[in-house]
Amino acid sequence: MRIILLGAPGAGKGTQCKRIVDKYSLVHLSSGDILRQERAAGTELGKKAQSYMDSGGLVPDTLIVEMMAGAIKKVAAKGFVLDGFPRTINQAQELDKALNANGQKIDAVINLVIDDSIILNRMTGRRSCPKCGAVYHIENLKPKIDGVCDKEGTKLAQRPDDTLDVVKTRLKTYHDQTKPVVGYYKSQNSVHDIKADMDVDTVTSLVLKTLESIIK
Ligand code: ADP
Ligand code: ADP
Repeated sequence: MRIILLGAPGAGKGTQCKRIVDKYSLVHLSSGDILRQERAAGTELGKKAQSYMDSGGLVPDTLIVEMMAGAIKKVAAKGFVLDGFPRTINQAQELDKALNANGQKIDAVINLVIDDSIILNRMTGRRSCPKCGAVYHIENLKPKIDGVCDKEGTKLAQRPDDTLDVVKTRLKTYHDQTKPVVGYYKSQNSVHDIKADMDVDTVTSLVLKTLESIIK
């Protein structure tokens, strides 16, 4: 199965992706996570991406498309859930081309719908484990011990781009450049809108119900 999860930053894409991949044994491909790994490893790509990520803008399409096409190719046999990609219409078109060339297509596009006012709180309260990547929230999804990962016992970190100023820029970037991607897939009649302003478990059950109806 090949799935795309769309939604504004903070809509809950990463949180829901982890649950989808566990249920269906798929691979989670998060463009943001891959970019952060490239940065941590100090690669050329990581260095090029840095300033765009820190300011809340988008990394240029050419870099992202090459990076994601490579990642998709590696896991094509297993199936995947894309999180954070495609983020522009050009990226969506390039993804279509790359899949078509291998006789493949996307099976489902899930769009997590949420209001900007909720997003600000979600993103500024997001904390994650530098070791295992588990994502928490200081109010909504608290770890058992404040500031410490349940699984690793590691001190949780706040992403440098989850500060109020950068979050505001990222939301503007989303509305200007990424929201049109929803329209791109709607024109292909393949989008399932899901309200994402409910608790995590409720959103998960709606997402899984939608996927079950597609698989049948
Ligand atoms: P979030 O999970 O909050 O939506 P991400 O982790 O997906 O954020 O992305 C973090 C940053 O990485 C983005 O603000 C952007 O600079 C860059 N990025 C991630 N995916 C893409 C993409 N598909 N195209 C361009 N830039 C990207
Ligand atoms: P995205 O990948 O779309 O940027 P995340 O999955 O990282 O979003 O979620 C952003 C923040 O909101 C995290 O701190 C996460 O724990 C929290 N969160 C995710 N889904 C929900 C939800 N349904 N209700 C409340 N908080 C949520």
